Amino acid sequence: MKSNKLSLILVTLICISIGKFTSASANSYILDDAERFAKLFTHTSELDEKQIKNKYLNLGTKGLEIFTPYRIKNEKNLLRAISENSGAYKKGIEVCLPAARRIASDAKQVLNDVKILLEQEKLAPTYILFGADNSGGTASREGLSLGLEVLCRFAETEDEAIEVILGFVAHEIVHVYQSRIPENKTQKHTLLRQALTEGFADFISYRVLGKVTQSEIERHNFGVKNEGVIWAEFKAVMNGNDFKPWMYGSSGEGRPNDLGYWIGKRIAQAYYEKAKDKKKALKELLYLKDPQSILLSSGYNPA
Ligand SMILES: [Zn+2]
Repeated sequence: MKSNKLSLILVTLICISIGKFTSASANSYILDDAERFAKLFTHTSELDEKQIKNKYLNLGTKGLEIFTPYRIKNEKNLLRAISENSGAYKKGIEVCLPAARRIASDAKQVLNDVKILLEQEKLAPTYILFGADNSGGTASREGLSLGLEVLCRFAETEDEAIEVILGFVAHEIVHVYQSRIPENKTQKHTLLRQALTEGFADFISYRVLGKVTQSEIERHNFGVKNEGVIWAEFKAVMNGNDFKPWMYGSSGEGRPNDLGYWIGKRIAQAYYEKAKDKKKALKELLYLKDPQSILLSSGYNPA
């Protein structure tokens, strides 16, 4: 009897350590925070700061830790966000969390494909969580955190949510690898550089997912129809450091937003297609040491 009990304890301990080992080393797509939040939100009639702190924030993954300082901030701010827009959290739990669960193996595949394509040694994990309704996600050297209540704004159905989440994962994980490159302080942050940074993420996303994602379809269709005109306008200002109206805000004039992403993607694509050594080309696009020389070598110059 005694030895049976001991075996049970031992087996339990081994399982716990295997579980820990797996989640730390091999699992690249982590839903723990989102699941814990959903449980708390669904089973608590009146949420308070203490519950949020003890049952959500204090038990968080590395991803939640990354997401806390400038976004969630603290239990008080999260409770305020939930009270002001509880519908967003309800939709996130009912529409987007089931989608996030369904795509677990696809998301892991996407993460692995990007890692292999960019010849990265260290895995970049993705954490799915709920934030303070103020950020869709953030990429840092340590991984990617995605706020489901914000991503869910772009989807009405579970199927749409699947496309949105996979698109975000594929694009944002590239930013994780970009952020791991040591910063060169002498580099100028020009519009061209920023367009190539975002455009490369869209280019990799396209290669891995095999299609233009829902979030870029509007700018893609507009871009294809007006490429010569957009390029002429972009070229005139690309060495400056004003990113507007090309990205991170309204484009004005009834155009789709973030056309700078699209131009960057077209340059990256042209560079890749022209290069003899494809692996080297991807590495150069990732490191982006000299955006001007990439542009010149790409031969990109649509009329
Ligand atoms: Zn981006």
